Amino acid sequence: MKTDILNAVKKRDLKTLSKAELADFLSGLGLASYRSDQVFQWLYQKGVHSFDEMTNLSKELRARLPELAEIRRLTVFNRQESKDGTIKFLFQLDDPNDYKVEAVLIPDFYPDGAANRLTVCVSSQVGCMFGCSFCATGKMGYFRNLSHGEIVDQVQIINEIAEERFGKKITNIVYMGMGEPLHNYKAVVESAKIISDPMGIDLAPRRITISTVGLTKQIKQLADEDTGVNLAVSLHAADDEKRNKIMPINESLNLEKLEESVKYYFSKTQKPLTYEYLLFDEFNDSQQDALNLVKIARWAPSKVNIIMYNNVAGVTLKRAREERLNRFMKTLTDNDVTATVRRSRGDDIDAGCGQLAIREGQQKGKSLVK
Ligand code: SF4
Repeated sequence: MKTDILNAVKKRDLKTLSKAELADFLSGLGLASYRSDQVFQWLYQKGVHSFDEMTNLSKELRARLPELAEIRRLTVFNRQESKDGTIKFLFQLDDPNDYKVEAVLIPDFYPDGAANRLTVCVSSQVGCMFGCSFCATGKMGYFRNLSHGEIVDQVQIINEIAEERFGKKITNIVYMGMGEPLHNYKAVVESAKIISDPMGIDLAPRRITISTVGLTKQIKQLADEDTGVNLAVSLHAADDEKRNKIMPINESLNLEKLEESVKYYFSKTQKPLTYEYLLFDEFNDSQQDALNLVKIARWAPSKVNIIMYNNVAGVTLKRAREERLNRFMKTLTDNDVTATVRRSRGDDIDAGCGQLAIREGQQKGKSLVK
């Protein structure tokens, strides 16, 4: 009788199930609730590939589970290491379409050469439909969302490599790779929960940053859920006219709408947010641009990351010159904006988001840009 019930259950990809759904699925098979915690740990803490490796499950259970469920896992397809220690990964998805996504491990070092912060930048989608003009991924178009398991896999696999390569685990995660994270809201938030779960990757939520081009509805949703993760808004221009030119999303969700959602976010979470601002030569690096950015930084408690752009082939916008950067930074700090310069990393490899995947021949997908 029991065997009949088991056979009636459809084979499930376990890493598409939330923690609660996993518990439901396993209890539906008649397993005690502690089994669900064990399987969760095997999947996300230990990153096993097969049920056979789940050695604290009974032999009988290990033999039964593959008939009912499967474990899909990313594999490293390509890996490039920069002179500055940055490692870029191209992951092959366990997917009939042969899709690939990128993630980057960015190490910071103490003066004695030991690793300090180890930040992982993960992808949330295959490609992206938002078509920002400076972004290699945007040129690719959108193919599909990643599942939360595919996002956690990137972190889990890089965590293992970080331990081998730098002798410590990763310390920070940013959702700033391929894709717009809040366009894949459910999987992104679920992945962040698993990453911060003590039975998962066990990284505190305050070490996780989710970025967005400014999807206002989802910013509010994130505020309401209050997951404890940080929010970063990719601004890149501080007035509507310039932002429209480089970020098509601004035509429907302009700075006024963004302001409203940012204020809502802060009122709910009391958490300062970060603005990311790529500084482009003679496009958004004037005194007036800096003063516009000062106004935005005052919408709610915030800090600003000024990012020196990794030039991308086929993009006319270029990295700002040092003297223009210095003047821009002076205006920000003179106006009490907390601002940091982020130097581009991995200049000698394809470290800009999407560059490696494009070289590996992704086709063109859906896009906001015609
Ligand atoms: S910058 Fe982000 S949102 Fe814009 S096209 Fe690139 S991946 Fe998409």
